[in-house]
Amino acid sequence: MISVRHLYKLYKDFVALDRISFDVRRGERIVVLGPSGSGKSTLIRCFNRIEPHDGGILSIDGRIIDEQTDLTQLRATVGLVFQNYNLFPHLSVLDNCTLAPRLVRKTPRAQARDMAMRFLTQVNIAEQAHKYPIQLSGGQQQRVAIARALCMQPRIMLFDEPTAALDPEAISGVVKIVNDLSAQGITTLCVTHEMGFARHIADWILFMDRGRILEISRPAQFFTHP
Ligand code: ADP
Ligand code: ADP
Repeated sequence: MISVRHLYKLYKDFVALDRISFDVRRGERIVVLGPSGSGKSTLIRCFNRIEPHDGGILSIDGRIIDEQTDLTQLRATVGLVFQNYNLFPHLSVLDNCTLAPRLVRKTPRAQARDMAMRFLTQVNIAEQAHKYPIQLSGGQQQRVAIARALCMQPRIMLFDEPTAALDPEAISGVVKIVNDLSAQGITTLCVTHEMGFARHIADWILFMDRGRILEISRPAQFFTHP
């Protein structure tokens, strides 16, 4: 469903992605590992064009992602959960979740609310629906950010360091969510430094260094390296 061919990305004269190629099938869980600065965030950000690539071909379900792509449609298809959640501070949890469906999909208010409550329930945060982001812990905000992305009914979910600053219990909550998404056929790409987390959610580990993929392997293989 995702095809990446010779993907190339420059920041001025710095090569952030150096002709990367790989494929992802529907529902697969990809974990991107590698040293800081190796291009992990840049790679996943190319998928919803928050970072436009400079060369190569990126396609989703046979559609090429380029300067012609409708960004609103693309970002509805490809949800991104940021490291710092990026919730709207002046909106309640529920309104954070209903805003984009109402604006972008023109979903009627009641229907948007029903859907938001369904996803907030799925990530186990429905009881906080009427609170504001500042009243929630980091782990709770993380789950709201995931529910908000799910309200757009994406086919792909991108996670940038989703476990940064979470306690072990919250991390296992995120593991469960990612695995549930995969079971529903949603493809996930996840950047993390957390090896235990990676091991629990990966179908494939993609290991990057200096803008290149050094290795694509199964977690069992990856974690038994000498
Ligand atoms: P990682 O996620 O693996 O830590 P990033 O994709 O964030 O790596 O960054 C890869 C490299 O590109 C780093 O050296 C980083 O400093 C650089 N970089 C990232 N974003 C920008 C930017 N907007 N402008 C210039 N350089 C950037
Ligand atoms: P992450 O760990 O998610 O990659 P960073 O702390 O590396 O986040 O980067 C935060 C923001 O700063 C990103 O939007 C990234 O594009 C930008 N950035 C990172 N490195 C550079 C750089 N060398 N020059 C300019 N912007 C950068």
